[in-house]
Amino acid sequence: MEFETVIGLEVHAQLLTDTKIFCGCPTKFGAEPNSQTCPVCLGMPGALPALNKKVVEYAMKAALATGCEIQQTSRFARKNYFYPDLPKGYQISQYELPIALNGHIDIPVDGGHKRIGITRIHMEEDAGKSLHEGIAGASHVDLNRAGTPLIEIVSEPDMRSSDEAVEYLKRLRAILMYLEVCDGNMEEGSFRCDANVSIMPKGETKFGTRAELKNINSFRFVQKAIEYEIKRQKALIMEGGKVVQETRLWDTQKGITVSMRGKEEAHDYRYFPEPDLVPVETGNDWIKKIRKTLPELPSDKVKRFVADYGIPEYDAEVLSVSRALANYYEETARLSGQPKAAGNWIMGDLLRELKLSGIDIDETLIKPAHMSKMIKMIDDGVISGKVIDEVLAENADGVAAYRSGKDKLFGFFVGQAMKKSQGKANPAVLNDLLKKKLAG
Ligand code: ADP
Ligand code: MG
Ligand code: ZN
Repeated sequence: MEFETVIGLEVHAQLLTDTKIFCGCPTKFGAEPNSQTCPVCLGMPGALPALNKKVVEYAMKAALATGCEIQQTSRFARKNYFYPDLPKGYQISQYELPIALNGHIDIPVDGGHKRIGITRIHMEEDAGKSLHEGIAGASHVDLNRAGTPLIEIVSEPDMRSSDEAVEYLKRLRAILMYLEVCDGNMEEGSFRCDANVSIMPKGETKFGTRAELKNINSFRFVQKAIEYEIKRQKALIMEGGKVVQETRLWDTQKGITVSMRGKEEAHDYRYFPEPDLVPVETGNDWIKKIRKTLPELPSDKVKRFVADYGIPEYDAEVLSVSRALANYYEETARLSGQPKAAGNWIMGDLLRELKLSGIDIDETLIKPAHMSKMIKMIDDGVISGKVIDEVLAENADGVAAYRSGKDKLFGFFVGQAMKKSQGKANPAVLNDLLKKKLAG
């Protein structure tokens, strides 16, 4: 029997505001436990929340960048549940009237594009953290994170494979990072994803029962968790069993998902409008003002790179992964006058070096000015990787002999390369390149 997979994603993104959503406490990561708290985020009786305007603006940016309709009026609601890291006994979230509805993100599939719907975006507060490690016989609670602003972005069940889910997530993350509303750090939990997965017989239109997968903190694990879940559900159905609606935890160590609890329904949370906060009104003027602050978004940048620089779409995608990388590329392309070569050097050697040394593009000492100078030197024949490749290819026997210990042959290769580049090659650079290439 053939099955089709259905996936819908719920993403929680921590917003990069300096202060929390309903109080003035700082949101900085890594502070002494409970040092960034006050009566509001500690949930003291009688303490009243006041909405941080920046949170609304960041949510509006995210909404506009994902093609959502911002609602003129939205409101906060209480989502009631008990947990030690939630001192009020409820989370302030949005329910019936979220800030934005009906957006989308386009992802590439088999040479074309596919539109993944976004159902809604709403604002809410984060909970604190329970600490279990290194404390014998007890758990402690750190409420520094309580009240940190989040937006939740809920997708339509439009994805049909783990690849599509990862593509969607990568794009959503890039958009939020371009907007500078979220740092996108999955390991630290500032960009977290719950994956809803179900399967149905191929050709069927009625969706199967979904499991919701939690605790996934990297793209690789999103892929693995979904793949595992699809296999599990298939095996279950083939055995004559039924998928039950439940929340399952991804176990990174074992590479499996395990049942955590039966799925709670909305009515279990006793949602009701938050009486301590007035509705949020977003007039057209405010929306217009926010729209003006949006940077060029990744998908537009990709189109422009393809059109203006004549590079393949794939290359444009890689080079637009972050704003910093895209800026680096554009500057190198402009200074060198060679957009294609610039792209190749950045995507190949530069990104590899950065990865090896674990540094960011904005930290590297190799600036676009250096990179473009090198590209020009190669073009002028002062440095040539190609010439040396040719020399090695034409003298395969010599290469083998050199590699088996005849290092005296080095001079011969230098001579050949010099001849081929008509004496233009820089000797020091040439020696270096040759040594590397001959080493294999
Ligand atoms: P809840 O909070 O109960 O999980 P939400 O509406 O917040 O409900 O999220 C539901 C998510 O599950 C959405 O992303 C939606 O696309 C997805 N979804 C709904 N039904 C299915 C299904 N049958 N298979 C896979 N995903 C589903
Ligand atoms: Mg859910
Ligand atoms: Zn506070």
